[in-house]
Amino acid sequence: MIACLERYVHETDTESRQDDDVSSICNTLDLQGSIESGGGSTSFAYKDFGGMYSFEPLAVIRPSCADDVARVVKAASRSSNLTVAARGNGHSINGQAMAHRGLVLDMRSTEVNHFKPLTVNGVYYVDVSGGALWEDVLKRCVLEFRMAPRSWTDYLSLTVGGTLSNAGVSGQAFRYGPQTSNVTELEVVTGKGDVLICSENENPELFFGVLGGLGQFGVITRARVVLQSAPDMVRWIRVVYSEFDEFTRDAELLVTLPAKGESSFDYVEGFVFVNSDDPVNGWPSVSMDPEHGFESDYIPPTAGSVVYCLEVALHYNSEDNLSAVDTVVSGLLGRLGFNRNLKFQVDVSYVDFLLRVKRVEEHAKASGIWDSPHPWLNMFVSKSDIAEFDRAVFNKILKDGIGGPMLVYPALRSKWDNRTSVMVPDEEIFYLVALLRFTCPNPKAPSIEKLVAQNHEIIQYCNKRGFDFKLYLPHYKSQEEWKNHFGNQWTRFVEMKACFDPMAILSPGQNIFSRLP
Ligand code: FAD
Repeated sequence: MIACLERYVHETDTESRQDDDVSSICNTLDLQGSIESGGGSTSFAYKDFGGMYSFEPLAVIRPSCADDVARVVKAASRSSNLTVAARGNGHSINGQAMAHRGLVLDMRSTEVNHFKPLTVNGVYYVDVSGGALWEDVLKRCVLEFRMAPRSWTDYLSLTVGGTLSNAGVSGQAFRYGPQTSNVTELEVVTGKGDVLICSENENPELFFGVLGGLGQFGVITRARVVLQSAPDMVRWIRVVYSEFDEFTRDAELLVTLPAKGESSFDYVEGFVFVNSDDPVNGWPSVSMDPEHGFESDYIPPTAGSVVYCLEVALHYNSEDNLSAVDTVVSGLLGRLGFNRNLKFQVDVSYVDFLLRVKRVEEHAKASGIWDSPHPWLNMFVSKSDIAEFDRAVFNKILKDGIGGPMLVYPALRSKWDNRTSVMVPDEEIFYLVALLRFTCPNPKAPSIEKLVAQNHEIIQYCNKRGFDFKLYLPHYKSQEEWKNHFGNQWTRFVEMKACFDPMAILSPGQNIFSRLP
């Protein structure tokens, strides 16, 4: 069933047949939205944030509603080989939102369709469009009703549909689970062109299948997201460890406190940095305010080539007494064994905290590294294997850094609904490892191929050592690898594909199934 994208359509006669297809489709679709093809108007859709793949679509469609999406999918199903890729904000790394000579749905055009707060049984929700950016959801929810979603990603210029098709993970996931655990209802256009409402009780197969389903079963046009009341402020703190076992012990303590009925921070993440003065990979990457630099003399001589930073945050409101905030923070920090001389903190507004990576984006755009290729590797590694991962990967393979953040922080499996399509390790505690490589457009920098090869070396090491791990935002080239990724869930995944997208029209860029004629 699996075929590489390159295999899809190559011969000229097939291409001209497809051109005929697209013009006849354009004529018959009768969309409320718009269609663009040729003349460079579709060029944005054959690029993504990864910058490593490029597949030109036949046309980009800007749907204006779920009905438009359904018409496009139905029209594609009447053709012999057209595929349809929903594109959120194109922040995939490996071409997942592309459709080689297929139809790309630019879901951003639907972003204003839904924005409706509601209360069900005392719980607050907001209905938002699949094509809405999380940053806009945040700003509107806070501004209009001082509420906000509970679970985030670190960077918010991503769409609701795009992150729900993967998982959506950040430092709140230990409390609330990933974003896929924080939606209760979806409107989905299936690969048959049916517009369905789904939830735990209504079409549950579709609901759980679509969450983390890599766009394989339907296009999310609306999501009902759980809200909490939005705090005004955040105390954002970084503390440093020279020993990995102390870092993980403290991170695990913080993420397990709520289950014991004890208070904890609202956000817990961590990252590895190089034990050197390298401006990008080393000590300077930790300090949060220019007035308070990193005093490296406090790192003990016994420290290895990399050291660790635990990053935490506590929410509070403007009217709260700051000494009460100090007391909570020092009570929690007092339980941790970090290097007391290496602590950094700032107080920022809640919205600025959640938009923190936007500022990184602005700098990276100015220096040109935002638009360079990003051979990223994201994985979930079980607690049992993370110490060896640290020794072999962080301390050896990546000891000089990667030109960007190397995140490592724990999540709790019990907060991840195992009815969704997201694959995570079996253990209750597992770590998100994110190697967020930024590359310089510089001839001396290692080639992209070398960096991709280094990613493979890491994956191979984990396989060889029998680690309990899963790729996050997975990307594979063969069916064997996809089968292996899904393990005992593969049969279910294939059955759901047969049920909801039997001709394999949707999300061809994931490279899981081939379009059936
Ligand atoms: P796209 O890349 O456009 O699409 C991703 C996949 O979803 C494609 O297969 C596409 O066909 C499908 N899809 C898109 N929209 C829909 C829809 N409406 N319905 C069904 N399928 C759809 N992830 C995290 O979990 N946590 C993070 O902190 C995080 N930080 C990131 C920071 C940056 C700078 C970047 C570039 C990525 C980050 N990611 C993070 C990864 C991100 O969540 C995924 O790449 C996500 O897919 C991007 O969303 P998007 O809207 O750009 O989706």
